[in-house]
Order: sequence, then structure tokens, then C-alpha cells
Amino acid sequence: MSNASCPNVSRCPLYEEFNLSASLRTWQIRYCHADFSRCERYRRHACGEEMPSRLLPSGEMLPEKKRRT
Ligand code: SF4
Repeated sequence: MSNASCPNVSRCPLYEEFNLSASLRTWQIRYCHADFSRCERYRRHACGEEMPSRLLPSGEMLPEKKRRT
């Protein structure tokens, strides 16, 4: 387990999205600022693999945002 923040914080679009929601912020706590080496996004970035835009650190997909009416 790493104690440093993820080196991708400044360029990871999901990191910014996590800032917008208290429920999503738990991803930052559990991965971005705690154990980024377990993050599927971090792993794929390091390996140069395809990166779906909605890929969560766990490897699941973040549901699309609901449209405001
Ligand atoms: S979601 Fe993953 S790749 Fe993005 S900043 Fe957090 S730990 Fe890093």
C-alpha cells in the first residue's frame, strides 16, 4: 500500500468528477489518496492500455449521468 497520492491526479478526468459528489469522493479516499496502485485506471495508464472514460478504480463502470429535465 502506498501513502502518496496518485501521480495521475492532475490529468485523470474521473478524479475531477469525484470532487463533484460526496458519494463519489470515497473513490479518492480509497484509491487516489491511499492505494492508487490498486486502481484499474492507474494500472491501464501505466501499461498504455485502452481506457474507457467511465472506468472506475475498481474496474467497474461509472453509470452515465442522468440528464436534468
Ligand atoms: S482514479 Fe485512479 S488513476 Fe485516477 S487519480 Fe484516482 S487513483 Fe489515479
